[in-house]
Amino acid sequence: PYDLLVVGGGPAGASAAIYAARKGIRTGIVADRFGGQVMDTVSIENFISVQETEGPKLVAQLEQHVRQYEVDIMTNQKAVGMVPGSSTEVQLENGATLKSKAVLIATGASWREMNVPGEQEYRGKGVAYCPHCDGPLFKGKRVAVIGGGNSGVEAAIDLAGIVAHVTLIEFDDKLRADAVLQKKLNSLPNVTIVVSALTKEVLGDGNKVVGLNYEDRTNGEMHKVDLEGIFVQIGLLPNTAWAKGVIELSPRGEIVVDERGQTSVPGIFAAGDVTTVPYKQIIIAMGEGAKASLGAFDYLIRSSVQ
Ligand code: FAD
Repeated sequence: PYDLLVVGGGPAGASAAIYAARKGIRTGIVADRFGGQVMDTVSIENFISVQETEGPKLVAQLEQHVRQYEVDIMTNQKAVGMVPGSSTEVQLENGATLKSKAVLIATGASWREMNVPGEQEYRGKGVAYCPHCDGPLFKGKRVAVIGGGNSGVEAAIDLAGIVAHVTLIEFDDKLRADAVLQKKLNSLPNVTIVVSALTKEVLGDGNKVVGLNYEDRTNGEMHKVDLEGIFVQIGLLPNTAWAKGVIELSPRGEIVVDERGQTSVPGIFAAGDVTTVPYKQIIIAMGEGAKASLGAFDYLIRSSVQ
Protein backbone atom coordinates (compact mmCIF):
# COMPACT_ATOMS: atom_id res chain seq x y z
CA PRO A 1 0.00 0.00 0.00
CA TYR A 2 0.88 3.66 -0.26
CA ASP A 3 1.75 5.69 2.82
CA LEU A 4 -0.22 8.59 1.39
CA LEU A 5 -2.64 8.43 -1.51
CA VAL A 6 -3.78 11.82 -2.76
CA VAL A 7 -7.13 11.81 -4.57
CA GLY A 8 -7.32 14.80 -6.91
CA GLY A 9 -4.65 16.47 -9.04
CA GLY A 10 -5.46 20.19 -8.82
CA PRO A 11 -3.27 22.71 -6.95
CA ALA A 12 -4.18 21.23 -3.54
CA GLY A 13 -3.41 17.65 -4.58
CA ALA A 14 -0.17 18.54 -6.39
CA SER A 15 1.06 20.51 -3.40
CA ALA A 16 0.13 17.70 -1.00
CA ALA A 17 1.94 15.10 -3.13
CA ILE A 18 5.14 17.16 -3.25
CA TYR A 19 5.15 17.74 0.50
CA ALA A 20 4.60 14.01 1.13
CA ALA A 21 7.23 12.83 -1.37
CA ARG A 22 9.78 15.19 0.21
CA LYS A 23 9.31 13.23 3.45
CA GLY A 24 10.42 10.09 1.63
CA ILE A 25 7.12 8.27 2.07
CA ARG A 26 5.40 6.21 -0.64
CA THR A 27 3.11 8.68 -2.35
CA GLY A 28 0.52 8.23 -5.06
CA ILE A 29 -1.78 10.73 -6.74
CA VAL A 30 -4.92 9.61 -8.52
CA ALA A 31 -6.92 12.14 -10.50
CA ASP A 32 -9.66 12.34 -13.03
CA ARG A 33 -7.95 15.26 -14.78
CA PHE A 34 -4.56 16.59 -13.68
CA GLY A 35 -4.70 20.35 -13.10
CA GLY A 36 -8.36 20.52 -12.09
CA GLN A 37 -10.09 23.87 -12.44
CA VAL A 38 -6.82 25.58 -13.31
CA MET A 39 -7.02 23.87 -16.74
CA ASP A 40 -10.17 25.96 -17.42
CA THR A 41 -8.62 29.25 -16.38
CA VAL A 42 -7.48 31.70 -19.00
CA SER A 43 -5.46 34.31 -17.18
CA ILE A 44 -4.19 34.14 -13.59
CA GLU A 45 -2.93 37.34 -11.99
CA ASN A 46 -3.16 36.55 -8.28
CA PHE A 47 -0.78 33.64 -7.89
CA ILE A 48 1.64 35.58 -5.74
CA SER A 49 5.19 36.02 -7.14
CA VAL A 50 3.96 35.19 -10.66
CA GLN A 51 2.60 38.42 -12.11
CA GLU A 52 0.65 36.82 -14.90
CA THR A 53 0.22 33.28 -16.17
CA GLU A 54 -2.26 31.05 -17.94
CA GLY A 55 -4.05 28.02 -16.51
CA PRO A 56 -2.61 25.30 -18.77
CA LYS A 57 0.89 26.79 -18.35
CA LEU A 58 0.64 26.69 -14.56
CA VAL A 59 -0.69 23.11 -14.75
CA ALA A 60 2.31 22.04 -16.88
CA GLN A 61 4.64 23.56 -14.27
CA LEU A 62 2.72 21.86 -11.46
CA GLU A 63 3.04 18.49 -13.18
CA GLN A 64 6.74 19.03 -13.84
CA HIS A 65 7.28 19.84 -10.18
CA VAL A 66 5.42 16.72 -9.02
CA ARG A 67 7.40 14.57 -11.51
CA GLN A 68 10.66 15.73 -9.89
CA TYR A 69 9.77 13.36 -7.08
CA GLU A 70 8.94 9.68 -6.80
CA VAL A 71 5.19 10.03 -6.98
CA ASP A 72 2.95 7.53 -8.81
CA ILE A 73 0.73 9.69 -10.97
CA MET A 74 -2.46 7.97 -12.11
CA THR A 75 -4.63 10.20 -14.29
CA ASN A 76 -7.98 9.61 -16.03
CA GLN A 77 -9.01 7.66 -12.95
CA LYS A 78 -12.11 8.50 -10.99
CA ALA A 79 -12.60 7.55 -7.33
CA VAL A 80 -16.12 6.24 -6.71
CA GLY A 81 -15.91 4.98 -3.12
CA MET A 82 -13.78 4.58 -0.04
CA VAL A 83 -13.56 2.03 2.78
CA PRO A 84 -11.64 3.32 5.81
CA GLY A 85 -9.49 1.00 7.89
CA SER A 86 -5.91 0.55 9.09
CA SER A 87 -5.29 0.66 5.37
CA THR A 88 -7.97 2.69 3.59
CA GLU A 89 -9.27 1.40 0.26
CA VAL A 90 -10.08 3.83 -2.50
CA GLN A 91 -12.28 2.28 -5.18
CA LEU A 92 -11.91 3.46 -8.76
CA GLU A 93 -14.51 3.62 -11.52
CA ASN A 94 -12.58 1.02 -13.56
CA GLY A 95 -13.06 -1.54 -10.76
CA ALA A 96 -9.54 -1.33 -9.34
CA THR A 97 -8.80 -0.58 -5.69
CA LEU A 98 -5.90 1.39 -4.25
CA LYS A 99 -4.77 0.94 -0.65
CA SER A 100 -3.07 3.52 1.51
CA LYS A 101 -2.27 4.06 5.19
CA ALA A 102 -3.43 7.65 4.88
CA VAL A 103 -5.61 9.29 2.25
CA LEU A 104 -5.77 12.97 1.32
CA ILE A 105 -8.85 14.11 -0.54
CA ALA A 106 -8.41 17.08 -2.88
CA THR A 107 -11.18 16.52 -5.40
CA GLY A 108 -12.09 20.20 -5.64
CA ALA A 109 -15.37 21.72 -6.68
CA SER A 110 -17.15 23.16 -9.67
CA TRP A 111 -19.18 26.33 -10.07
CA ARG A 112 -22.87 25.79 -10.73
CA GLU A 113 -23.71 27.12 -14.17
CA MET A 114 -26.82 28.96 -15.41
CA ASN A 115 -27.17 26.62 -18.41
CA VAL A 116 -28.40 29.34 -20.74
CA PRO A 117 -27.41 30.05 -24.36
CA GLY A 118 -24.15 32.03 -24.61
CA GLU A 119 -22.79 31.02 -21.19
CA GLN A 120 -20.28 28.46 -22.48
CA GLU A 121 -19.45 30.46 -25.60
CA TYR A 122 -18.51 33.56 -23.60
CA ARG A 123 -16.89 31.84 -20.62
CA GLY A 124 -13.68 33.78 -19.98
CA LYS A 125 -14.88 36.42 -22.47
CA GLY A 126 -17.12 38.24 -20.03
CA VAL A 127 -18.75 35.32 -18.21
CA ALA A 128 -16.85 34.83 -14.95
CA TYR A 129 -17.32 32.89 -11.72
CA CYS A 130 -14.73 34.38 -9.36
CA PRO A 131 -14.77 38.06 -8.36
CA HIS A 132 -11.42 37.78 -6.54
CA CYS A 133 -9.87 36.45 -9.76
CA ASP A 134 -11.52 38.46 -12.51
CA GLY A 135 -13.01 41.55 -10.80
CA PRO A 136 -10.13 43.89 -11.73
CA LEU A 137 -10.55 42.98 -15.44
CA PHE A 138 -13.87 44.88 -15.38
CA LYS A 139 -12.59 48.10 -13.87
CA GLY A 140 -14.85 50.97 -14.95
CA LYS A 141 -17.21 48.62 -16.84
CA ARG A 142 -20.79 47.42 -16.25
CA VAL A 143 -21.38 43.97 -14.83
CA ALA A 144 -24.18 41.77 -13.53
CA VAL A 145 -23.99 39.38 -10.62
CA ILE A 146 -26.33 36.41 -10.91
CA GLY A 147 -27.52 35.18 -7.50
CA GLY A 148 -28.66 36.98 -4.37
CA GLY A 149 -27.32 34.62 -1.72
CA ASN A 150 -24.35 35.52 0.46
CA SER A 151 -21.79 34.85 -2.32
CA GLY A 152 -23.73 36.91 -4.85
CA VAL A 153 -24.26 39.88 -2.55
CA GLU A 154 -20.64 39.77 -1.32
CA ALA A 155 -19.53 39.70 -4.96
CA ALA A 156 -21.79 42.66 -5.82
CA ILE A 157 -20.42 44.73 -2.90
CA ASP A 158 -16.84 43.80 -3.83
CA LEU A 159 -17.34 44.58 -7.54
CA ALA A 160 -19.18 47.86 -6.87
CA GLY A 161 -15.87 49.23 -5.57
CA ILE A 162 -14.10 48.42 -8.86
CA VAL A 163 -16.60 48.57 -11.72
CA ALA A 164 -18.87 51.38 -12.95
CA HIS A 165 -22.18 49.65 -12.26
CA VAL A 166 -23.49 46.37 -10.89
CA THR A 167 -26.89 44.81 -11.62
CA LEU A 168 -27.69 42.08 -9.12
CA ILE A 169 -30.14 39.53 -10.51
CA GLU A 170 -32.02 37.19 -8.16
CA PHE A 171 -34.47 34.45 -9.22
CA ASP A 172 -36.50 34.55 -5.99
CA ASP A 173 -38.73 37.50 -4.99
CA LYS A 174 -36.20 38.55 -2.32
CA LEU A 175 -32.48 38.31 -1.65
CA ARG A 176 -31.34 35.43 0.56
CA ALA A 177 -28.13 37.03 1.87
CA ASP A 178 -27.57 37.98 5.52
CA ALA A 179 -29.34 41.20 6.53
CA VAL A 180 -26.06 43.03 7.22
CA LEU A 181 -24.86 42.31 3.67
CA GLN A 182 -28.17 43.43 2.16
CA LYS A 183 -27.99 46.66 4.16
CA LYS A 184 -24.50 47.34 2.85
CA LEU A 185 -25.61 46.53 -0.71
CA ASN A 186 -28.60 48.87 -0.49
CA SER A 187 -26.32 51.72 0.61
CA LEU A 188 -24.25 51.57 -2.59
CA PRO A 189 -25.07 54.15 -5.27
CA ASN A 190 -23.94 52.12 -8.30
CA VAL A 191 -25.94 48.94 -7.68
CA THR A 192 -29.34 48.01 -9.12
CA ILE A 193 -31.16 45.04 -7.59
CA VAL A 194 -33.58 43.03 -9.71
CA VAL A 195 -35.60 40.28 -8.04
CA SER A 196 -37.98 37.66 -9.50
CA ALA A 197 -35.77 37.54 -12.56
CA LEU A 198 -34.67 34.52 -14.58
CA THR A 199 -31.58 34.97 -16.75
CA LYS A 200 -32.42 33.62 -20.19
CA GLU A 201 -29.45 34.37 -22.42
CA VAL A 202 -25.93 35.78 -22.47
CA LEU A 203 -25.59 38.19 -25.38
CA GLY A 204 -22.30 38.64 -27.21
CA ASP A 205 -20.81 40.21 -30.33
CA GLY A 206 -18.89 37.09 -31.34
CA ASN A 207 -15.85 38.03 -29.25
CA LYS A 208 -17.15 39.19 -25.91
CA VAL A 209 -20.21 39.71 -23.76
CA VAL A 210 -22.35 42.75 -24.55
CA GLY A 211 -25.43 42.08 -22.43
CA LEU A 212 -27.95 39.65 -21.04
CA ASN A 213 -31.65 38.94 -21.33
CA TYR A 214 -33.79 38.15 -18.33
CA GLU A 215 -37.45 37.36 -17.84
CA ASP A 216 -39.48 39.18 -15.18
CA ARG A 217 -41.10 36.18 -13.49
CA THR A 218 -44.03 38.24 -12.21
CA ASN A 219 -45.37 39.00 -15.71
CA GLY A 220 -43.23 37.03 -18.19
CA GLU A 221 -41.83 40.18 -19.82
CA MET A 222 -38.31 40.06 -21.27
CA HIS A 223 -35.70 42.71 -20.43
CA LYS A 224 -32.25 43.41 -21.82
CA VAL A 225 -29.31 44.77 -19.79
CA ASP A 226 -26.27 46.19 -21.65
CA LEU A 227 -23.05 45.23 -19.89
CA GLU A 228 -19.54 43.85 -20.32
CA GLY A 229 -19.33 41.21 -17.60
CA ILE A 230 -21.49 38.58 -15.85
CA PHE A 231 -20.45 37.00 -12.55
CA VAL A 232 -22.35 33.78 -11.90
CA GLN A 233 -22.73 33.20 -8.15
CA ILE A 234 -25.33 30.48 -7.84
CA GLY A 235 -23.31 27.93 -5.92
CA LEU A 236 -20.11 25.96 -5.72
CA LEU A 237 -20.56 22.20 -5.85
CA PRO A 238 -17.90 20.20 -3.99
CA ASN A 239 -16.90 16.88 -5.62
CA THR A 240 -17.78 14.73 -2.61
CA ALA A 241 -20.60 12.47 -3.80
CA TRP A 242 -18.13 9.54 -3.78
CA ALA A 243 -17.17 10.11 -0.11
CA LYS A 244 -20.68 10.63 1.23
CA GLY A 245 -21.53 8.50 4.27
CA VAL A 246 -17.83 7.81 4.98
CA ILE A 247 -16.65 11.19 6.29
CA GLU A 248 -18.51 14.14 7.77
CA LEU A 249 -19.76 16.66 5.22
CA SER A 250 -21.22 20.11 5.86
CA PRO A 251 -24.83 20.84 4.79
CA ARG A 252 -23.33 22.17 1.54
CA GLY A 253 -21.51 18.90 0.96
CA GLU A 254 -18.05 20.24 1.82
CA ILE A 255 -15.65 18.04 3.80
CA VAL A 256 -15.34 19.21 7.41
CA VAL A 257 -11.64 19.49 8.39
CA ASP A 258 -9.75 20.62 11.47
CA GLU A 259 -6.74 22.96 11.48
CA ARG A 260 -4.48 20.11 10.29
CA GLY A 261 -6.73 19.06 7.46
CA GLN A 262 -7.93 15.97 9.35
CA THR A 263 -11.48 14.83 8.52
CA SER A 264 -13.90 13.08 10.90
CA VAL A 265 -12.10 9.78 10.15
CA PRO A 266 -8.53 9.38 11.49
CA GLY A 267 -6.07 8.90 8.64
CA ILE A 268 -8.28 10.63 6.09
CA PHE A 269 -7.32 14.22 5.34
CA ALA A 270 -8.69 16.78 2.91
CA ALA A 271 -7.63 20.08 1.38
CA GLY A 272 -8.62 22.76 -1.11
CA ASP A 273 -11.97 23.69 -2.64
CA VAL A 274 -13.53 20.40 -1.53
CA THR A 275 -13.35 21.41 2.16
CA THR A 276 -15.17 23.85 4.44
CA VAL A 277 -12.14 26.18 4.36
CA PRO A 278 -13.40 29.47 2.90
CA TYR A 279 -12.11 31.50 -0.08
CA LYS A 280 -11.59 29.14 -2.98
CA GLN A 281 -8.33 30.21 -4.59
CA ILE A 282 -5.25 28.53 -6.09
CA ILE A 283 -2.83 29.93 -3.53
CA ILE A 284 -5.12 28.89 -0.69
CA ALA A 285 -5.61 25.38 -2.14
CA MET A 286 -1.83 24.94 -2.39
CA GLY A 287 -1.28 26.11 1.19
CA GLU A 288 -4.04 23.87 2.49
CA GLY A 289 -2.64 20.93 0.49
CA ALA A 290 0.79 21.41 2.07
CA LYS A 291 -0.77 21.71 5.52
CA ALA A 292 -2.95 18.61 5.24
CA SER A 293 -0.01 16.65 3.83
CA LEU A 294 2.08 17.53 6.88
CA GLY A 295 -0.94 16.63 9.02
CA ALA A 296 -1.05 13.22 7.32
CA PHE A 297 2.70 12.76 7.84
CA ASP A 298 2.29 13.51 11.56
CA TYR A 299 -0.53 10.97 11.68
CA LEU A 300 1.65 8.32 9.99
CA ILE A 301 4.60 8.73 12.34
CA ARG A 302 2.26 8.46 15.34
CA SER A 303 0.24 5.48 14.15
CA SER A 304 1.47 1.97 14.87
CA VAL A 305 0.66 0.88 11.31
CA GLN A 306 3.80 -0.38 9.55
P1 FAD B 1 -9.55 21.52 -8.32
O1 FAD B 1 -8.72 22.48 -9.06
O2 FAD B 1 -11.02 21.54 -8.53
O3 FAD B 1 -8.99 20.05 -8.64
C1 FAD B 1 -9.69 18.91 -8.30
C2 FAD B 1 -8.98 17.67 -8.79
O4 FAD B 1 -9.68 16.50 -8.35
C3 FAD B 1 -8.88 17.52 -10.30
O5 FAD B 1 -7.67 16.88 -10.63
C4 FAD B 1 -10.08 16.62 -10.63
O6 FAD B 1 -9.93 15.92 -11.85
C5 FAD B 1 -9.98 15.67 -9.46
N1 FAD B 1 -11.22 14.93 -9.14
C6 FAD B 1 -12.47 15.40 -8.87
N2 FAD B 1 -13.30 14.38 -8.54
C7 FAD B 1 -12.55 13.26 -8.58
C8 FAD B 1 -12.82 11.88 -8.31
N3 FAD B 1 -14.02 11.44 -7.94
N4 FAD B 1 -11.79 11.00 -8.47
C9 FAD B 1 -10.55 11.40 -8.84
N5 FAD B 1 -10.24 12.69 -9.08
C10 FAD B 1 -11.23 13.59 -8.96
N6 FAD B 1 -8.21 30.87 -8.49
C11 FAD B 1 -7.22 31.78 -8.37
O7 FAD B 1 -6.52 31.80 -7.35
N7 FAD B 1 -6.98 32.68 -9.37
C12 FAD B 1 -7.69 32.71 -10.54
O8 FAD B 1 -7.45 33.55 -11.42
C13 FAD B 1 -8.72 31.73 -10.70
N8 FAD B 1 -9.49 31.73 -11.79
C14 FAD B 1 -10.44 30.75 -11.95
C15 FAD B 1 -11.16 30.70 -13.15
C16 FAD B 1 -12.09 29.69 -13.35
C17 FAD B 1 -12.83 29.65 -14.66
C18 FAD B 1 -12.33 28.72 -12.33
C19 FAD B 1 -13.32 27.61 -12.54
C20 FAD B 1 -11.63 28.79 -11.13
C21 FAD B 1 -10.69 29.80 -10.92
N9 FAD B 1 -9.96 29.89 -9.73
C22 FAD B 1 -8.96 30.82 -9.62
C23 FAD B 1 -10.21 28.97 -8.59
C24 FAD B 1 -9.14 27.86 -8.54
O9 FAD B 1 -9.03 27.27 -9.81
C25 FAD B 1 -9.50 26.83 -7.48
O10 FAD B 1 -9.64 27.45 -6.22
C26 FAD B 1 -8.43 25.73 -7.36
O11 FAD B 1 -8.21 25.11 -8.61
C27 FAD B 1 -8.83 24.69 -6.32
O12 FAD B 1 -7.88 23.68 -6.29
P2 FAD B 1 -8.20 22.22 -5.79
O13 FAD B 1 -6.95 21.45 -5.98
O14 FAD B 1 -8.79 22.28 -4.44
O15 FAD B 1 -9.37 21.65 -6.73
